[in-house]
Amino acid sequence: MSEEKRRYYRKNVELFLLLDKMKLWPSRTGILHGIRSVERNGEFAEITTHCGKTFRVYNSRTSRAARWLRNKWVSRPCKDCKIPEWKLEKYSTTFFAQHYGSDLRHKD
Ligand SMILES: [Zn+2]
Repeated sequence: MSEEKRRYYRKNVELFLLLDKMKLWPSRTGILHGIRSVERNGEFAEITTHCGKTFRVYNSRTSRAARWLRNKWVSRPCKDCKIPEWKLEKYSTTFFAQHYGSDLRHKD
């Protein structure tokens, strides 16, 4: 893995911004889904995956989803979502750090 391909985000990045950027959703069963749309509605957002699941999530930096994404606690990508290889590759070269990286609110 070349150093310049790595990207860093802040650990405390806002969940919705992160989901909107990565377009990936870690399910409780360890499956990584592709996100088709994120519709914000105040502190909640309606997430629709490519395999047709829709659910509401609360915008929390400390939510399970945020933690799972950061720690890469997923075992396999969803077959029905057909996440492209480049996106999985991008995810595998994404890291989260406390004092380094983008918080997605401004350009670094
Ligand atoms: Zn899926």
